[in-house]
Amino acid sequence: MKPIRSIAIVGGGTSGWLAAAYLARKLGTAKGGVAITLIESPDIATVGVGEATIPPIRSMVAATGISEGEFLRETGGSFKLAIRFDDWLHVPSEHRRHSYYHAFGSYGRIGRDLMAPYWLQQRDTEQRSFVDYTMPEGRICDAMCAPKRRGDPEFSGPFEYAYHFDAARAAKLLQRVAVETGVKHLLGKVENVELDANGDIAALVTDRHGKLEADLFIDCTGFAALLIEKALGVRFDDATDQLFCDRAVVCRPLYETPDAPIPPFTVATARPHGWIWDIPLSERRGVGYVYSSRYCEAEDAERNLRSYLGEAGRNADSFEIRIRVGSRPTQWHRNCIAIGLAGGFIEPLESTGIYLVDIALRWLSDLFPDQSTMKVAAQEFNRRMNDCYADIIDFVKLHYCISKRDDTRFWIDNRNQETWPETLKRKLENWRFRTPGEYEVGGLPAVFGLSNYLQVLYGMQYFPDLSGREAQFANMEHANERADELQRTALAAVDRLPEHRELIGMIAGVG
Ligand code: FAD
Repeated sequence: MKPIRSIAIVGGGTSGWLAAAYLARKLGTAKGGVAITLIESPDIATVGVGEATIPPIRSMVAATGISEGEFLRETGGSFKLAIRFDDWLHVPSEHRRHSYYHAFGSYGRIGRDLMAPYWLQQRDTEQRSFVDYTMPEGRICDAMCAPKRRGDPEFSGPFEYAYHFDAARAAKLLQRVAVETGVKHLLGKVENVELDANGDIAALVTDRHGKLEADLFIDCTGFAALLIEKALGVRFDDATDQLFCDRAVVCRPLYETPDAPIPPFTVATARPHGWIWDIPLSERRGVGYVYSSRYCEAEDAERNLRSYLGEAGRNADSFEIRIRVGSRPTQWHRNCIAIGLAGGFIEPLESTGIYLVDIALRWLSDLFPDQSTMKVAAQEFNRRMNDCYADIIDFVKLHYCISKRDDTRFWIDNRNQETWPETLKRKLENWRFRTPGEYEVGGLPAVFGLSNYLQVLYGMQYFPDLSGREAQFANMEHANERADELQRTALAAVDRLPEHRELIGMIAGVG
């Protein structure tokens, strides 16, 4: 046995500091634990965006020892119950706009049966959406309520939720916690990487601190991928043939008034060559147009973003980010693990960037090997991460495949089946004549399960033909009673829950 006694993390963005804070607590930095050093360049900026998350973030924050109130306060954060997708089904017109929620809560059941087939058989999308039939969250979002009350235990509440937060401020907070937990912080640039005779990383050559040796190296250098790619030559699989968006133009407008309601959901609005995220933080919004440079010039994207923002964008600067879409089939190679953007990135439609950091860290600490079993751990880690990426690509692409938008080549080409992953093609063929099955999607390492797929498929009106199968779904009355009950739950919750802005004010002392 040759234990891993030292870890060097390169990069001080969200992934580097989350890695440092989490691993310091998980592995222990005291004598007999692991010495963790993080080096970041003061001259190379972090990507600085990454504001919407999914529910596992709550337990990740808890695992770093930060309280929920402190987290929300220090990161300008807010709660997130759902994503509202606007204009994804068809091009909006003055008289016709389409919108649906993809919420985090679990989908409705009667006993063990899904409610979905009952809604499908009597659907009237104008009258009662799929979400409003099967879950309470849509109404809670409409009412701009928080997912919990003051005094509910931290990190939990009656409804499933995640956070919106300022990623740069989160990195600062995590830095403080990591350093307090014993992580050594160095400011400096890694200029070269030395390999040993086996091809493992032996040391980092830095501009201000000489050579930095470690047993394990974590590459959190973002799209630069300094260790995993530049030093070790590990391949990156570009995914732009499937997911076309490779640029974002980003802006940070203030709310129109200081007491404007803060939506407890992200809004993702489809646009001619991509989509716009609108993320409500406690003190400002984060808004960005993710688009494809193959179909749209930067000036056009900027104009589009400004037209979306209207007055709100008048005094707000914007900046552009180039996105490298795809992932590495080998995220852990020899004694180096790429975490965060260095490992890969899928456009942020379903807020999976920080989750991929989170899950990589949990798996790394679960699998934590000694130096002689590194290879076995790496194989398992890589298999899980690959499955995770494949699942995210399927789920994100799904939103494009089942859109009926035809305003530009971007949308038309997205429906070309040659651009669909085989796994997604197979799913969609099946789901023309049945609902997704209980064990067909979801289950780790998959990120998205049945509830996620059902909400997107039926929110986007991708309905299966269930005709002739009515006898299989004989509990219609029972299902409708359950749907009414869920809505009573929603109305009671709306009465009881504080407004989102109000709760943030109370918990985080903001607003
Ligand atoms: P970076 O932030 O790029 O940090 C890289 C670090 O490496 C920096 O500290 C830099 O100084 C350092 N560095 C680089 N080279 C060297 C060197 N030679 N020596 C020393 N240090 C070096 N995720 C979500 O979960 N939700 C979202 O809504 C979301 N939206 C996104 C939108 C866009 C447009 C993009 C691009 C990403 C988004 N993400 C989102 C992903 C999220 O931003 C990232 O997962 C997260 O910020 C992690 O970035 P990182 O730390 O890996 O890289």
